[in-house]
Amino acid sequence: MPRHLLTSANAEAYARLMHEGVDTLARRLASVDRPTSGRRPDEVGRDVRSVDLDRPVADLDEALAELEDVYLRDAVWFHDPGYAAHLNCPVLIPALVAELFVSGVNSSLDTWDQSGGATFIERELVSWTARRLGFGAGADGVFTSGGTQSNLQALLMARGEACLDPSTDPGESLARTLDRFRILASDESHFSVRKSAQLLGLGRDAVVTVPTDTSRRLDPAALDAELHRLRGAGLLPMAVVATAGTTDFGVIDPLGPIAEVCHDHGVWFHVDAAYGGGLLVSERRRGLLDGIERADSVTIDYHKTFFQPVSSSAVVVRDAAALRHVTYHADYLNPPSSGLPNQVDKSLQTTRRFDALKLWLTLRLVGAQELGEYVDAVVDLARAGYDLLREDDELEVAAAPTLSTLVLRFRPEGTSRATASELAPRIRTTLAREGRVMVAGTRVDGESWLKLTLLNPAVTTADLVRVLDAVREAGRDLLEQASAFEGAGR
Ligand SMILES: *Cc1c(COP(=O)(O)O)cnc(C)c1O
Repeated sequence: MPRHLLTSANAEAYARLMHEGVDTLARRLASVDRPTSGRRPDEVGRDVRSVDLDRPVADLDEALAELEDVYLRDAVWFHDPGYAAHLNCPVLIPALVAELFVSGVNSSLDTWDQSGGATFIERELVSWTARRLGFGAGADGVFTSGGTQSNLQALLMARGEACLDPSTDPGESLARTLDRFRILASDESHFSVRKSAQLLGLGRDAVVTVPTDTSRRLDPAALDAELHRLRGAGLLPMAVVATAGTTDFGVIDPLGPIAEVCHDHGVWFHVDAAYGGGLLVSERRRGLLDGIERADSVTIDYHKTFFQPVSSSAVVVRDAAALRHVTYHADYLNPPSSGLPNQVDKSLQTTRRFDALKLWLTLRLVGAQELGEYVDAVVDLARAGYDLLREDDELEVAAAPTLSTLVLRFRPEGTSRATASELAPRIRTTLAREGRVMVAGTRVDGESWLKLTLLNPAVTTADLVRVLDAVREAGRDLLEQASAFEGAGR
């Protein structure tokens, strides 16, 4: 009997080894006191490369000890209160219990005969999400690997629908038509929109930037004008992408008015709610998503504002028929006559993880209401941070937050914008090297800023103050060094 395989005969060994793994991680978690070790890639890389993969270790104990050296010591811990960089969340324990079943049973969600009831559990969660979106009974969708894939699939479906548009001349070569398709989105939309256009074989100029207002929200009047202009030029607008929670500023485009314009022009309306999707369960802020019910497709990343482990995302469509654009019959998997509920017909993937189970156990154990309170907590925290920053003499904040990001930089009185811009990335690097605090960076109107993404409902205002203080201290040090350097050069 192969002793490492998970079989009925090895069930006891499975439990023993899994406990050992869980105990190791639990002990490690208890000792985390900073988000990162701060070690450099060359240092970490050396340790990883020193392992001889052709010489296995003797037992799990030894493997776990080695794991500490090659992975855990330098891992980035998103639950640490000093972590405020990217859109990563601490994860819910019920979802991790689900992970055991996801990988232990190892269902594959492509076909009924590889998944059984898992297919219906995924379908229920898609339906639950669709109801929260305000979609009707005709809605459907599928779990994906992330917002990038969800956006790609949504735009692929939009392209499929646009090909059916009577204004698309069927006599034209496909390549020429592809060249004329246009996707409209604001400058603040996620880069995966542009990447999708490229993957879909559209032309270089396929994504048209729609101007935003002073709050960086896509301007519906400008959208209307742009659609008229494109049609007038003989081009084929195939989709409008609105963002519900932009990656940098967490801004939510005006969904209702954009839906209206899309309706008037008969253009597919996609909402990228990868970040803002968590508002679906917020009692206090669900209203921010009003208008999303008029979308043709929506991207939701449960692995962001639903506190799920990666991967967990979905693309949901108002009309299930649009999913046919990804259907491809393979005789061995899903012959048209089978009549079985095969999710592969709705997905870009074939073999696919049962990620839906994580959200299922989360909703069963945590419940949507408490989940919504977590979302509200991080949005409240960002607001509290903004109120502090507005009063701050040394830290400058770029805008009031809608969701849970703060764009800021170190700029004490008398410091030029150019100097502040130059300092921002250096502060970020300094902090990452120290390892106590991690922040992200971004460019705004050609200048560098720092960005805090707050996605940890356990973080307090006092924790946030510590992060801000760390930014301030690093800024002061760097500014002092710079003036000392200038002085020495004189
Ligand atoms: C994170 C994000 C994405 C990409 O999602 P992944 O899950 O990282 O692939 C797309 N759009 C927005 C607005 C995002 O914030």
